[in-house]
Amino acid sequence: MLKSENLSFFITARRGREKPMSRKNSESLRNQIEDLIRNFESELKNHDLRKKVLALVDIFHGLRDLGKSLILVDGTNSARERILRYFQKYPQTVIKGDELLVVSGIQEWPRRLRELRVQLGWKIINGITAKQMNIEGDFSLREDDLGSMKPDDYILISTRQDRDAAHRWNTANIIRRKRLSVRDKILEFLRENVGQPISGEELRYVANQKTEWARRIRELRTEYGWPIATKNTGRPDLQVGEYVLQADRQSHEHDRIIPDSVRREVLRRDAYKCSSCGWTHQEWNPSDPRHLELHHIKPHVERGENTKENLQTLCTLCHDCIHKSSRISNH
Ligand SMILES: [Zn+2]
Ligand SMILES: [Zn+2]
Repeated sequence: MLKSENLSFFITARRGREKPMSRKNSESLRNQIEDLIRNFESELKNHDLRKKVLALVDIFHGLRDLGKSLILVDGTNSARERILRYFQKYPQTVIKGDELLVVSGIQEWPRRLRELRVQLGWKIINGITAKQMNIEGDFSLREDDLGSMKPDDYILISTRQDRDAAHRWNTANIIRRKRLSVRDKILEFLRENVGQPISGEELRYVANQKTEWARRIRELRTEYGWPIATKNTGRPDLQVGEYVLQADRQSHEHDRIIPDSVRREVLRRDAYKCSSCGWTHQEWNPSDPRHLELHHIKPHVERGENTKENLQTLCTLCHDCIHKSSRISNH
């Protein structure tokens, strides 16, 4: 009787459906498994391999149900919902793929995780993305955590759900198939989403998982002057692991090619404020969409250097004024 039940489970599992969640609580499930393991003692002595395997199937299923019983989601029996609840309970914490196997109770948990990330807009990044972002200084995590992060480790970086994610997902799929360089794909995607915080995971996807994606973003910022900010480079209000193209414009040519380390120091020194009018990002609004830029006090053309001493933080409005008036006085 037990065996035919197992068989029917396999059939439904193959169709990708889940068996209705057992109403039994965790403790009775644990008792059940204990009994099964005890009975397995006699199976071990048995020479019939098939019987041993079939007896273990029950134990496997018992363990799966026990894992599922740990997170009770009222009304639904959704593996995806259990995965989400688990992440929400431990945000900004490294979660192993095997933990998700336990709480979801299904082999196809990676598919559910992907739906959460790309279709439902939960910002969950994996170990590969975290390391690539860390190399470019865009991600800070305790060294121990990062060093031990594996490709199938995950972190929920923000507890806010991003409801525009599904729309962006379509845009990402169009752009990633284009015959463009990784840099141009990333730039196009960011320009389609000006002002919108994007997770590193999405940008890596747009770049077809090419490892260079994080370096290309840094180049777009430091060499091409696109105002792409992260928590570490000008926007402390962002979550670790998010990028935002603040405006669809490049900085003045002579203010490009500033290394991130210098940019960070100048912004910190100036307390993320325009040193002319005092504007900060908290004052941002759609009718006055400024952002902060760095300006060379002594211009490049007059051999002004890329040093902290020769740089100042300005809002884009004040920055434009300074360049306009200096052009007038030069002529
Ligand atoms: Zn200003
Ligand atoms: Zn300037």
